[in-house]
Amino acid sequence: KKIKLSNGKADLLKPSNNSNSNFGIKSKISIQEQKRKLPVFQNRNKLLDLIKRHQTLIILGETGCGKTTQIPQYIYSARIQNNGRIAVTQPRRVAAISIATRVCQELGNGENVGDTVGYMVRFEDKSSKNTKILYLTDGMLLREAIVDNLLKQYTVIILDEAHERTIHTDVLFGIVKKAQKIRDERKLTPLKIIIMSATMDVDHFSKYFECKAVYLEGRAYPVNIFYTKTLQDDYQTACVATFFKIHRQAPPDEDVLIFLTGQEEIDAVVHQIRLLAKDPEVNGPPVRVYPLYASQPSSQQICVFQSVPENTRKVIVSTNIAETSITISGVKHVIDSGMVKVRSYHPTTGLDALKVQKISQEQAWQRTGRAGRVSEGNCYRIYTKFQFECLQKTTVPEIQRCNLSTVVLQLLALKIHAAHFDFMDKPPKDSIASAFEQLKMLGAIEDIDSGKLTELGSQMARFPLDPRFSKILLSAPNYGCLEEALTIIAILSGESIFLNPPAKREQVQALRQKFYSAYGDHIMLLNAFREYTNISQANRRSWCHEHYINIRNITYAHEVRMQLADICMKCQIPTSSCGSNMDQVRKCLVSGLFMNVAELHRDKNYITLDKRQIVSIHPSSCVHGQKPPCILFTEVVQTSKCYLRSLTTISIEWLQEIVPDYVRTRNIKIVD
Ligand code: ADP
Ligand code: MG
Repeated sequence: KKIKLSNGKADLLKPSNNSNSNFGIKSKISIQEQKRKLPVFQNRNKLLDLIKRHQTLIILGETGCGKTTQIPQYIYSARIQNNGRIAVTQPRRVAAISIATRVCQELGNGENVGDTVGYMVRFEDKSSKNTKILYLTDGMLLREAIVDNLLKQYTVIILDEAHERTIHTDVLFGIVKKAQKIRDERKLTPLKIIIMSATMDVDHFSKYFECKAVYLEGRAYPVNIFYTKTLQDDYQTACVATFFKIHRQAPPDEDVLIFLTGQEEIDAVVHQIRLLAKDPEVNGPPVRVYPLYASQPSSQQICVFQSVPENTRKVIVSTNIAETSITISGVKHVIDSGMVKVRSYHPTTGLDALKVQKISQEQAWQRTGRAGRVSEGNCYRIYTKFQFECLQKTTVPEIQRCNLSTVVLQLLALKIHAAHFDFMDKPPKDSIASAFEQLKMLGAIEDIDSGKLTELGSQMARFPLDPRFSKILLSAPNYGCLEEALTIIAILSGESIFLNPPAKREQVQALRQKFYSAYGDHIMLLNAFREYTNISQANRRSWCHEHYINIRNITYAHEVRMQLADICMKCQIPTSSCGSNMDQVRKCLVSGLFMNVAELHRDKNYITLDKRQIVSIHPSSCVHGQKPPCILFTEVVQTSKCYLRSLTTISIEWLQEIVPDYVRTRNIKIVD
């Protein structure tokens, strides 16, 4: 499939002769030299001076100029942190890990990650009491705040990538601001706050923080922008086609960065490019293709920074993680699908769903900028100029589009009522209200007005999970199935453990038959995991391969499970297993997910009990086609219809037994 670019043939530039260009992972200059060539380096003293003089400071600078890797090191070597720690937050775990690894290398004192430089992400802690520069996800710093709301172990807190406006960063804005004020009032060690970002609405930020903003001038070269002439209904194929157009014409040392939306799509495109590049009809140098997405193991993710052999083209196929979080050098061509996967609240089901949607203009410009880091570059937008003009100008903050029950619970654990919290942009009243209602139903708070946490609620706040999931774990002793509940929740906390190559559909289905359960997908996941843990360590890789199980994701689930088990132990929840009595597990799931139940409606569709919406079972569910009378779900997929995925069949009478209050207040009719 061919696509046309509005500018006719792209003028591909000759490789520019940048012998003194630096970011060049391709050039073999030392790490120390690379550091000195970063744009922030010239401003080092000025910056340090500003940081010393201001309690709160906003630092803006072009992506790749060295903010995240350098500024914490400058602060550290100037000893601004005194005896405390420097925290640097990142919205993504993978960025926290890779940047900490890089900074540790840059310090060059032979230490390992976890010594002076460390990181902390959900389910993984690489820090020690010696750690002075700690990269951590914004979610982790928020958890730290629950333990100590003044965040006393930190003397400098850097909230990085502030423009991303994740829920956690937004909540942290208020928390650190308050911590700073209280520490001042109580004459405790002062807290320095630095907000860093690539682009942002400066006035909005500096008004909220009542502070000064500085711009770091970066080096950005002009980028030629190309639009498609016509609408593209299949952006994935269009991206591949555009890549090969570039590939045939551009010199091999010009790297290409493709922006797509998620793991599955990226893996598919990586595969397609690898295959097609070997086709003798395609003229062009050999290629090295690297996927880049958040759920990747960091060891694999670091590969994108490696240099490739001479006369080989490097292609990175990435999610929006390469927009600002991770800078890859040498990119000369950007292909922008115009799409991004975001989490947002799904009103029909009350769950957050990942949804592929159009990017904002702000994001389009960020993506474009990635092509102009080393020299002049090109950006190919897989959409028309008119489509670009119709995009939203800026990205809507996550807090205004997601389920707030986790955050509301975390705030309550900090003794803050969300309705009175100093948000930079307030979330809609309705979403705060429904979060409180949900917490009340789960038994986490005593009443909605006071928002006082119950004993159960305080325990729920200790888990880095959606309150519905932590409720399941905490109810497990009542059903004697903690082992099983842990497994299911751990698997649901990561990406899918089942691989589904479309070409092998039947074969995979036949193989998977042995995990099959008439009780639905959650039990099927449990069956697969149980078999996996029964296989000896040495044979797990081949077992996964044989059964089309994603080894990375199941290993991750295994780790998550251990972490959750650890928290359960700290909450003194006794371990238990229900063996083959699956009713116990299914009831236990109901204890947290009773709001996510749907009932068969006139033998055709399903209708959700809570919001009375019409939904269908997704074809990928193992009970698809069986029409169970009542189901509990943990995932929605919205296309032209609303589909439920990841299901467990339940019996509707259980609701009466497990959540009588809910049944009564919602006036749910239990008839069989
Ligand atoms: P900013 O935060 O301003 O966007 P960074 O501090 O993240 O910039 O990056 C500065 C430079 O360090 C970039 O040129 C980037 O390519 C390089 N860099 C970052 N991480 C790594 C890594 N793991 N390996 C090699 N280079 C890296
Ligand atoms: Mg950065």
